[in-house]
Amino acid sequence: MSSKDWLEKDFYAVLGVTRSASPDEIKKAYRKLARDLHPDRNPGNKEAEEKFKAASEAYDVLADDKKRKEYDEMRSLFGSGAFRRGARTGGGGTQFDPSDLFGGFAGAAGGAGADRRFGGSGFSDIFSSIFSGGQAGGPGPAGAARRGPQRGRDVETEVTLDFAQAVRGTTLPLSLRTPGACDTCRGSGAKPGTTPRSCAKCHGTGLISSNQGSFSFSEPCRDCQGSGSIVDEKCPECRGTGGVTKTRTINVRFPAGVADGQRIRLSGRGEPGDRNGPAGDLYVQVKVRPDDLFGRSGDDLTLTVPITIAEAVLGTDLKVPTLDGPVTLRVPPGTPSGRKLRARGKGVVRKEGQAGDLIVTVDVQIPAGVTGEARDVLEKFAKLTPPPARERIDARLRRAAG
Ligand SMILES: [Zn+2]
Ligand SMILES: [Zn+2]
Repeated sequence: MSSKDWLEKDFYAVLGVTRSASPDEIKKAYRKLARDLHPDRNPGNKEAEEKFKAASEAYDVLADDKKRKEYDEMRSLFGSGAFRRGARTGGGGTQFDPSDLFGGFAGAAGGAGADRRFGGSGFSDIFSSIFSGGQAGGPGPAGAARRGPQRGRDVETEVTLDFAQAVRGTTLPLSLRTPGACDTCRGSGAKPGTTPRSCAKCHGTGLISSNQGSFSFSEPCRDCQGSGSIVDEKCPECRGTGGVTKTRTINVRFPAGVADGQRIRLSGRGEPGDRNGPAGDLYVQVKVRPDDLFGRSGDDLTLTVPITIAEAVLGTDLKVPTLDGPVTLRVPPGTPSGRKLRARGKGVVRKEGQAGDLIVTVDVQIPAGVTGEARDVLEKFAKLTPPPARERIDARLRRAAG
């Protein structure tokens, strides 16, 4: 259900309860209506069917605390006359008066609602312009005068970083294609040297108003598509639209340690706002190309290095690469397979001076077979090395035999 539907419908009246009705009262009222109006009880009765649907719709909103709150807020904003400011103040713009928003019902029988925020731009715009402090524009070209500032749209883009770029952080230029005002006609859409004329049908307001019940509604004028002005000779650059797609380049700083899947928000770097409204935000979805050698675990980098049995038993100095050049790690004598060694500070270096490590896992390689002299030596080693004590295993074997 759209927000507009919410405004046009009085859910409290549909259920026959007051605005202060408790959730219990609402539930009871709905149950009774649902029982009385149920299609099974009223076969072929179109009116009952409509009422039944309306009651379900009303209950759906009023039974949900969150929805009910939103609905109440929206209704009270609308009823306050906040959206008919244009009509009351007339032509050349108006100061924003917060009492318009919160002054309660100010008699909804509205005249020609000339404020295009209502019909013209849809509800999200109404709310965003109100809550962003909606200063209605000052006197300006016909039609544009009463439109308030509009926040620019958010822009979403994606960037793929190399593994090392993500670990160290990097600054990259991003090219963004975003709509902007045409330079040739400065956004008017009219051929240079000509001026758009005020729309006769809507008198330059961009809106056609009508009354329905106690509310007044406005919708964009069809003759001028809600712009309030008509362009006779179109600008050749933008073909009369007033807008062109522009490519802009911005430098985006990716902090050290940015992770695959992370979304970075750059406040105010989205599309520019309309009529001095604030710019939208830029969201950058980060992808990180995996490295063929290093892995990552938070701020630590990981690396697995194979070593021989002899290196594990006798110990060795192991030279390993890091992102800042090679380091040598001491493998102590008697190192088991899977032991982790640390190269301190060779992971992600955060700004605050805290740094992750490179964690090297040694992987002792067991040869599938040995021949020649190596085999002779190993056999000699086997003779000289008693098998490890296996008392408990031997005891179990003896018990099984006896
Ligand atoms: Zn143009
Ligand atoms: Zn018009």
